[in-house]
Amino acid sequence: MTTPIALFDVKAQQALIRPELDRRIAAVLDSGRFINGPEVAEIEERLAVFAGCAHAVGVSSGTDALQIAMMAEGIGPGDAVFLPAFTYTATAEVPLVLGATPVFVDVEEESFNIAIADLEARIAAVRKDGRLRPRAVVGVDLFGLPADWPAIEAICAREGMFALDDAAQAFGAALDGKRLGRWGDAAALSFYPTKTLGAYGDGGALLTDDAARAELYRSLRTHGEGRTRYEVERTGMNGRLDTIQATILCAKMGLFEGELAQRRRIGAAYDAALAGRVGVQVAQPGAENAYGLYTIRLPDAAARARVQQALAAEGIGSGIYYPKPLHHQPAYAAHHAGAIAGGPAPLPVSESLCHRVLSLPMHPYMSEADARRVAGVVLAAL
Ligand SMILES: *Cc1c(COP(=O)(O)O)cnc(C)c1O
Repeated sequence: MTTPIALFDVKAQQALIRPELDRRIAAVLDSGRFINGPEVAEIEERLAVFAGCAHAVGVSSGTDALQIAMMAEGIGPGDAVFLPAFTYTATAEVPLVLGATPVFVDVEEESFNIAIADLEARIAAVRKDGRLRPRAVVGVDLFGLPADWPAIEAICAREGMFALDDAAQAFGAALDGKRLGRWGDAAALSFYPTKTLGAYGDGGALLTDDAARAELYRSLRTHGEGRTRYEVERTGMNGRLDTIQATILCAKMGLFEGELAQRRRIGAAYDAALAGRVGVQVAQPGAENAYGLYTIRLPDAAARARVQQALAAEGIGSGIYYPKPLHHQPAYAAHHAGAIAGGPAPLPVSESLCHRVLSLPMHPYMSEADARRVAGVVLAAL
């Protein structure tokens, strides 16, 4: 009888810090400061120190982090926001909620991240079309691997656009010795329980080196309040990180470096067993993956179904991130089709990957031997 291996494990970690969690949560209960308690400032300080950036602002989710960042730039109707077609829905939803238009960009086959040549081509097409103003690029560090930030930053600087890092899956990742949070104009984090740093509910943060932006983010997360309470300076939202989630994150921060190191060992074990046999996510030089997920590319949908079945038969979890590119989602298809006169260029890599990708178990409470066992089942099923 073999032991099951879950895709994620959000409970094993608890045993290591349960006394601290219990003590910290009880302290919040005793204090009654459920909103804006001192633990919010504590986690903000610790996030900024970890990332090496000047400011961290706790918010209610990764999605709200993206929204607050775009609200702070005044992004709205008539604005084009460029983002990959192969990502989680939240990345595309936020510009639409603000009345802006998402322009989907294809991704690279090997990194799964935004394709720079295609980004350039679509910015040029939007400029030529003349109806929308190119305003922002959202780079997503998919599955934990940093996007090509030097290229995205250079394009945004040249074009006068806002560079937003959707680092929801990648907190802890680094590129050229700089952790995410220092790339782009701002980075959005999610503390959804299965992310690399997860709360026990929803939460998120914005990281930036820009003091003016950080101040705007603080105002926007609290209904656009001014320097004094009940003075409303701008239209904001209720986007705060609550104190209990903040204190849970503080309790987890002590484990985070070690967890990242274990994720990297698991990733290396998978790479050693699988690279050359199936497609693995390939990092550019200087990139350190945070391994939010470990995702492989199989030859086709039939091979993926076979592998997934073989894993399930062994009690091994797997998941498909993502089964559909965003421009094919019913909610976004019409916006996509109308974004550029004559219809946008095709997105063949994003479409193809959705039929072939499979995410394997990845969390810091599995062993390298577990990863080798999973890889063995994958290869045997091919
Ligand atoms: C999880 C995720 C989000 C949204 O984060 P929430 O905290 O769930 O709102 C945004 N973008 C990406 C790429 C994500 O994976």
